[in-house]
Amino acid sequence: MTVIDDVKARLDIVDVISQYVPLAKSGRTFRALCPFHSEKSPSFYVYPETQSWHCFGACSTGGDAFAFVMKKEGIDFPEALRRLADRAGVVIPVSGERDGEREARHRIYQANDAAAAYFHALLLSSPAAERARAYLTKRGLNAAALDAFQLGYALESYDTLKKTLGERSFTEEELVTAGLLNLSEEGRRYDRWRNKVIFPIKDERGRTCGFGARVLDDSLPKYINSPQTPVFDKSGSLYGVNLAAAAIRKQDAAVIVEGYMDAITAHQGGFANVVASMGTSITDKQINALKKMSRNLVLALDSDSAGAEAMLRCVGYENTLEAEIRVVILPEGKDPDDVIKADPKQWEALVAGARPVLDYAFETVTGGLDLTKARDKSRALERLLPLSAEIKDIARRAHYFQKLARLTGVSDSELEAAARKPRLAARPRAAAEPAAPVKPALNPLLASPLEEYTLALLLRHDELSEAGRVLPAEYFENSENRAVFLAWRECADSASLRDRLDESLRELLDGLLARDIVASKIEAKYADCALRLKERHLKTLARRREAFFALEPEKPAAAPQPEDIAIKNELRKVFNQKARRA
Ligand SMILES: [Zn+2]
Repeated sequence: MTVIDDVKARLDIVDVISQYVPLAKSGRTFRALCPFHSEKSPSFYVYPETQSWHCFGACSTGGDAFAFVMKKEGIDFPEALRRLADRAGVVIPVSGERDGEREARHRIYQANDAAAAYFHALLLSSPAAERARAYLTKRGLNAAALDAFQLGYALESYDTLKKTLGERSFTEEELVTAGLLNLSEEGRRYDRWRNKVIFPIKDERGRTCGFGARVLDDSLPKYINSPQTPVFDKSGSLYGVNLAAAAIRKQDAAVIVEGYMDAITAHQGGFANVVASMGTSITDKQINALKKMSRNLVLALDSDSAGAEAMLRCVGYENTLEAEIRVVILPEGKDPDDVIKADPKQWEALVAGARPVLDYAFETVTGGLDLTKARDKSRALERLLPLSAEIKDIARRAHYFQKLARLTGVSDSELEAAARKPRLAARPRAAAEPAAPVKPALNPLLASPLEEYTLALLLRHDELSEAGRVLPAEYFENSENRAVFLAWRECADSASLRDRLDESLRELLDGLLARDIVASKIEAKYADCALRLKERHLKTLARRREAFFALEPEKPAAAPQPEDIAIKNELRKVFNQKARRA
């Protein structure tokens, strides 16, 4: 992960912008009076799910968190990065160290990707993988699911992976760092997984950061994960996020299940917004990563006591991470994998009927109590009052205080008074993780492959310099991409670009320059990219304007606005050009 990715993953644009402008929630977005121009009704919008903002008024512009701080403070990208890194608690390393670390991380991803491909090929065709294939077939997985999740098999051998990757120029030290090899006390290095089904764990960009591996017999432990590495932190990873991110954004909801199989079965059944926590407990890192895609989170954990306990712990996240959390109550003894396989319709109904996590907490706590007895009333208060007292939203808080009052016969004003007592205030947070500060999420969000590919083309092919110079910079929505583009445009030759670029952007530049681009039909490839960038830009504008007017019933939307007509005309031109090219 680059420093820029790290900063992005740790910051939420809503938090950043509300430091400057008071934001009001409005549906899925936030709005305010535009800080960049003077106006009486708000036309400045912030979109948490895309981590971007837009002014529909006089400015008619927008961007990401960096773009906001750059414009507001009148600073350039590197300075904005430094300030936001400070805020996020990210240390920007000094030059030499950074190059070395980046290279090491890059090598780990490469080794992991190579290992995943090797394990996958073994699963598909090695005779030794027969039992693994039979196991996965018995679990109901089809060929498409095996491919999509790149499931694999590790041979019963101490050195085949070591040899295979060794032949591909990875050193044994690198493979140990990547967690692919174990290191014995005598210093011998050997394959970590033998005779296992392999589940590659990917980040949102599809890079393999680690692995889960399952035994094929009844031995324990059933699963062995990669250790913590420079690119893998299990508590911040979400299994399947590479395949689920788009659906989570589109449906504005994420479903969290526990196991690899639950996630794969869900995707195979057409439920694409599902990720797995890879363990019973859901961490604040995982919630924080998900809430950038959607703030509507649904937990579908196993219906055992560990699952119940994990769901209760998530009550605290609702407040500290400002995400709405609901829970699915699965039939006794069933996990999502069972339910989806038996009856996808039932799964759909269960998810649709997910209950607010606090309602669930009330039921779980009072379930075993007899509330006609004073002692049980005290017990209910002991557990539920602290949970209710943490709610910040006034209406929700009142709702649960009233509910608690009904259950216990203590008036809600007395409850409020009790909740303010120092004993409660000082109480450790409802068995949840410590509230502040939110730790980094490991998946860099909002990478734009199209922008990066376009930049790589421009950087690598001088023959495009004229065509590239007329490309509007606003087509680049990522501030760092835009900064590299602007620097390239000002620069007479690509060679001196690296020296001119701020150090924080060199990592991105090197990555772009290292891209594999097949050197044929370069002009056509570029023209294609430019057209797609333009199309994306226009569609984003149109979509945002539409959403804007939908939220603003008082604004005249009946007659088409000149801007909308212009956007439509431009889009029509793009479609025609695309049709001609095809
Ligand atoms: Zn404005």
